[in-house]
Amino acid sequence: MNNFHYTKASSVDEAVLAGKGAENYFIAGGTNLLDLWKYDLTHPQKMVDVNGIEELKTITELPNGGLRLGALVTNNTTAYHPLVEARYPLLSRTILAGATAQIRNSATNGGNLLQRTRCYYFYDPASPCNKRNPGSGCPAVEGQNRLHAILGFSDKCIATFPSDMCVALAALEAVVRVTGPNGSREIAFADFHRLPGDRPELDNTLGQDELITAIDLPPRGYAEHHNYLKLRDRNSYAFALVSVATGYELEAGMIANARIALGGVAHIPWRVEAAETYLEGKAPTEASFAGAADLILAGAQGFEHNAFKIELARRTIVRSGMMALDPSCQRPGAPPSL
Ligand SMILES: Cc1cc2nc3c(=O)[nH]c(=O)nc-3n(C[C@H](O)[C@H](O)[C@H](O)COP(=O)(O)OP(=O)(O)OC[C@H]3O[C@@H](n4cnc5c(N)ncnc54)[C@H](O)[C@@H]3O)c2cc1C
Repeated sequence: MNNFHYTKASSVDEAVLAGKGAENYFIAGGTNLLDLWKYDLTHPQKMVDVNGIEELKTITELPNGGLRLGALVTNNTTAYHPLVEARYPLLSRTILAGATAQIRNSATNGGNLLQRTRCYYFYDPASPCNKRNPGSGCPAVEGQNRLHAILGFSDKCIATFPSDMCVALAALEAVVRVTGPNGSREIAFADFHRLPGDRPELDNTLGQDELITAIDLPPRGYAEHHNYLKLRDRNSYAFALVSVATGYELEAGMIANARIALGGVAHIPWRVEAAETYLEGKAPTEASFAGAADLILAGAQGFEHNAFKIELARRTIVRSGMMALDPSCQRPGAPPSL
């Protein structure tokens, strides 16, 4: 039996105080943490239940025209919030492309950012895994690697980050607000998740004792032209093999600015700013998006079972770009992916 302490926090300060300690964990929806615990992959000494912190359960407008999503707002509440649907439909779509309604009713925004990889070897305590047990090896390199990375991997780890929501947050250039024992800080979304390098056990740059309090969305939401295309082995209840979030603004029929982020291909949501700059001033055509795809996938490398992802990603970038032009894909209630 694993003994552990349980405490319920009703304020950010209480949570941060109680959360101090290497094996202390905040618990929100519990949809990932409890699985990790049951699989014997994590061994909490103390669970700090943050569900009583009411101030983190709101969605509020920011003076700059952006939106603040509380860390404890559930994924479903966020996806169906009228302001999110109207101004950030790309975010709604990515959330609704993930998991199931039941899971999204428990899963929170903060927890979504911190969910762990779905690498089969990571979830098997009998397997070596550098992410779970640093220095033990990465069987995925020579093993079952269909779900694994084609970009940004290292010889220590080829796992991918599985979140859908975070693909939109990367494209939207969200900002993560956190509070820890040394005060509060903001982390640009591009700096939040990290590549595996020599430390694959670290998924992100959040301190162990820091609490995510909110995610800020900048004013630009790409409501007019956006799309999320998620390709997976089953059409529901499965993680992405490749996914693409696309948003752009048009001026006189030409792309004025663009964002493209990929999921399922790396240890982080993958974004290449040079590809977005390349699209500026170009017509939204298959040729333009194919050119952007070349820049995004430069250096991509496949393994025995996932080399197909390179061509799949290229085609998905082009298709998602074209779907973002199609008015029938922009209306509320349009399918999250075709
Ligand atoms: C069967 C299944 C299918 C799924 N399919 C998908 C999918 O297709 N796409 C997808 O994107 N996701 C999918 N998910 C993952 C799901 O979205 C995540 O499990 C969920 O978002 C995690 O949120 P949570 O609130 O439950 O986090 P928890 O499980 O409570 O916590 C996860 C981690 O975050 C930490 N944490 C939680 N909140 C905070 C906070 N505010 N500050 C600091 N640390 C915090 C916890 O300590 C823990 O380490 C699936 C999950 C399941 C179980």
